[in-house]
Amino acid sequence: MASKPCVVFVPTPGMGHFIPHVELAKKLVFNHGLSATFIIPSMGPPPKAQMEILESFPEGINYVILPPVRFSDLPDNSRAETRFILTVSLSVSSIRDEVSSLVGSTRLIALVVDLFGTDVFEVAVEFKMQKYIFFPCSAMSLSSLFYFEKLHKVVSCEYRDMPKPFQIPGSRVLVNGRDLPDPVQDKKNDAYKWFLHNAERHYLSDGILLNSFADLEPETVQVLQKREYGQPPVYAIAPILYSGSRAGLDESECLKWLDDQPRCSVLFVSFGSGGTLSLEQLNELAMGLELSGHKFLWAIKSPDKTANASFFNAQSNKDPFDYLPGGFLDRIKGRGLLVSSWAPQVQVLSHSATGGFLSHCGWNSTLEGIAHGVPFIAWPLYAEQKMNAVLITEDLQVGLRPKVNENGLVGREEIARLVKALMQNEGEASNIPQRINTLKEAAARAVSNDGASTKSLKEVVDLWKNKPN
Ligand code: UDP
Repeated sequence: MASKPCVVFVPTPGMGHFIPHVELAKKLVFNHGLSATFIIPSMGPPPKAQMEILESFPEGINYVILPPVRFSDLPDNSRAETRFILTVSLSVSSIRDEVSSLVGSTRLIALVVDLFGTDVFEVAVEFKMQKYIFFPCSAMSLSSLFYFEKLHKVVSCEYRDMPKPFQIPGSRVLVNGRDLPDPVQDKKNDAYKWFLHNAERHYLSDGILLNSFADLEPETVQVLQKREYGQPPVYAIAPILYSGSRAGLDESECLKWLDDQPRCSVLFVSFGSGGTLSLEQLNELAMGLELSGHKFLWAIKSPDKTANASFFNAQSNKDPFDYLPGGFLDRIKGRGLLVSSWAPQVQVLSHSATGGFLSHCGWNSTLEGIAHGVPFIAWPLYAEQKMNAVLITEDLQVGLRPKVNENGLVGREEIARLVKALMQNEGEASNIPQRINTLKEAAARAVSNDGASTKSLKEVVDLWKNKPN
C-alpha cells in the first residue's frame, strides 16, 4: 500500500470551483504529506483552461475524468446550478467504482466535495472516509446558506420582492433579497429545490473547509464557528489562491504590455471564466473605458443574452472583437489592450502596473484582488456575486459599485466616473488604497507559517490522519 494517505476530491463543473480545489490539494500534498485524487464528473470534454491545469498536476495528485453524464428531460429553463448538481448526482455510481479501485493501493482518509456535491457523501460512508465540504465562497455565503432554511419557511414571496433588507447572521451589513444567490431567485425553478437539497445536506458533513479567513469576515466566521444551528465544524483556511497556469506565459502579450506601463496605472477588466455581457452593455463598457481616459486591459468575451454564457466553456466561440464599437480599437491604441476570452489573471493582478480591477466578483477573483491589494469596481453578474459585491463595497469598503440605469444598463458616463474615481483615488475612493492594503497584509498573515488559516488546515489534516477507519 502506498505510504501517503489519500484525499479524494470530487469537484463540480466550472473553473471557479475547480481551481481552488486544486490549490487546496497542492497544499495537502506539498505541506502535509498527503496524496490526492481528483474524480471529475463531466458534462463533456473539459474546457482548454481546465485541461491545462490537469496536465500540469504535480506528483502526488492524480485525476480521472468520468464519462459525461446524459441529461434527460431537462426543462429549457434549467439553470447552470441544476446542471452542476445533476452532473455530480448522476455520476455517483461511477465515483463509487473509481473509489473502489483505489482501495488497497492507498489509505483513503477523506472525501472532499463542494457545496453542490453533497450527494457523494454516500460513497464516503460506504468506504469509511471522512466527509468534508470545501466551500469555495465567502463566510457570508455560507452563513446565508444555513440561514436559508429559516428564510425558506418564513418568506412567502420571491426573495427579490422582500420589502426590507435583512441581516445574514454575523454580517456587518444588511442585504436585500435581490442580492441573494441566483439559484434561489425563482422558487418555481428546479435550481431552488436542488440548492435547498444541498444546503440541508451540509449538516451531514464532518466538517466544512471555508475559503475565507477570520480577519476578512471576523463576525461571520465567529458565528459559523459557534455552530448555533448545529452545523458541522467550520475551518477558515483562506486565502486558497490560484497559483496561475504557466502555459503560454512567456508569450503573453498582455504581461509584456503591462511591463511598459507606469505603476498602478492600468485597470484590469474581467468577468471571470463565465461572465458575459449583452451587446448593448458591452458597447457601453467600451465607450465608458474610452471616456475615462485611463489605461485598461480587458479580457473580452463575445456578448450573450445570458450573464454566464461561457461558464461551461470559457473560450468565446465567436471573435469578441467583432462586436466592439466602430473605430474603438484605433482610438484606444496605446492606452488600452484587449485579450480574447482568457487572461493570466493572477499574473496581471500581481503586476505592479495594475491599479484597479473591474470584476464580476466571483469569489476567487475577489480573494485574488484582495491578496494582491488591487481595489475593485464591483460589477456582479450571476451566482452569489451580488452578495460578494455587497461585501466588497459596503462591508470591506474596498470597491465601488456602478449604478444600473432605467434601461437596465450601466451607462458609459457612470463607468467613466467610477474608473476615474478609483484610478485617481478620489472622492468615495479616497480611503480604498489604505483599506485594501490592510486586507492584503491580513491575507498574507493568515497563510503564513503560524497564521490562523495555516493552523486551521493543519488541525483538519491531523484529524484526518489520526481518525482510524
Ligand atoms: N481566471 C483567469 N483568467 C481569466 C478568467 C478567470 O485566470 O481570464 C481565473 C481567475 O483567476 C479565478 C478563476 O479563473 O481564479 C475564476 O473564478 P471566480 O470565482 O472569480 O469566477 P467564476 O469564473 O467562477 O465566475
